[in-house]
Amino acid sequence: MSRPGRALVDLEALRHNYRLARQMHGGQALAVLKANAYGHGTVRCAQALQPLADGFAVAFLDEARELRAAGMGGPLLVLEGLFDAEEWLSAQALDVWVVVHHAEQLRMLAQAPVTVPLQVWLKVDSGMGRAGFAPADVATAYATLQASGKVSDIVLMSHFARADEPASHATALQIATFDSATVGLAGPRSLCNSAGLLAWPEARRDWGRPGIVLYGADPLPAPGAAPLRPVMALHSQVFATRTLQVGQPLGYGAHFVAPRTTRVGLVAMGYADGYPRHAPAGTPVAVDGAPTHLIGRVSMDMLTIDLTDLPQAGIGSAVELWGAQVTVNEVAHCAGTIAYELLCNVKRVPLVYSE
Ligand SMILES: *Cc1c(COP(=O)(O)O)cnc(C)c1O
Repeated sequence: MSRPGRALVDLEALRHNYRLARQMHGGQALAVLKANAYGHGTVRCAQALQPLADGFAVAFLDEARELRAAGMGGPLLVLEGLFDAEEWLSAQALDVWVVVHHAEQLRMLAQAPVTVPLQVWLKVDSGMGRAGFAPADVATAYATLQASGKVSDIVLMSHFARADEPASHATALQIATFDSATVGLAGPRSLCNSAGLLAWPEARRDWGRPGIVLYGADPLPAPGAAPLRPVMALHSQVFATRTLQVGQPLGYGAHFVAPRTTRVGLVAMGYADGYPRHAPAGTPVAVDGAPTHLIGRVSMDMLTIDLTDLPQAGIGSAVELWGAQVTVNEVAHCAGTIAYELLCNVKRVPLVYSE
């Protein structure tokens, strides 16, 4: 038998989550498929969502090219915008929508011999302080786009910095800043990422941009606003067992020293597969459906778990690293990161799809 590590991807759960996000938001929703669909495989996810999605969003032009090459038509937004004048021509050829968030991108557009007007999403920096036009510059940028003759429609958008903090006033302030910066400018609006969509009903406008919720990971500190279904299950098997005597060390750096006679299971999954190396002893896993946890350091190709209280478990036992039993949010929390990073880091293991 070959190495048992797999990332199982449930495409029906993906569709369920998209429907839920779209319904909660109202209006239309772009399914965000950047970063290989958060590790789930861009093309397969796009194909699964195609019949129900209003459109897709990716980060940059090469990601858009991959979807077009796979035959995916329809609205496709490039969230990070374009990097040079030539890319405007590629964007025209690929028939994509383009975010414009910086004056330099307006200059590139002016230089680019675009002949077929493109839909542009004009990004307002409403308080994140990262990408986007300052509120005072929005009307001018809007007028420049209109006057260019190279733009068909303009959508007004912004992005939230702290929508996953329901107690913070920052998001309400961003909404107000966006509204006043865009007053009197015609066009659809788009504010919500996943956390915005779940926690800030007053931010729901014409277009939602759900990402992480599509993959079933709730970004809020107190999840449960929406009955999301996990899309990826990271699975493997125990491929060896051994017993450590009291005081015996385990693995790199002897990070774990057996406090009792300890039965260890070796699992075919490591940081080269995207499992976080910083996950400490105690991080939950499920073995044949029963909860246990990591012991010792995560290595490149394997990790070690405690089987002392699971005497029936042994070679060939199924191990869930995250999925329906152990949430990816729990593992992310243990490893000091977020579900986004864990999901988009998954690599080397085969992605196995089910409809
Ligand atoms: C990635 C991204 C999203 C999706 O964010 P989630 O938190 O995953 O929902 C939405 N909008 C923009 C501009 C993005 O870059």
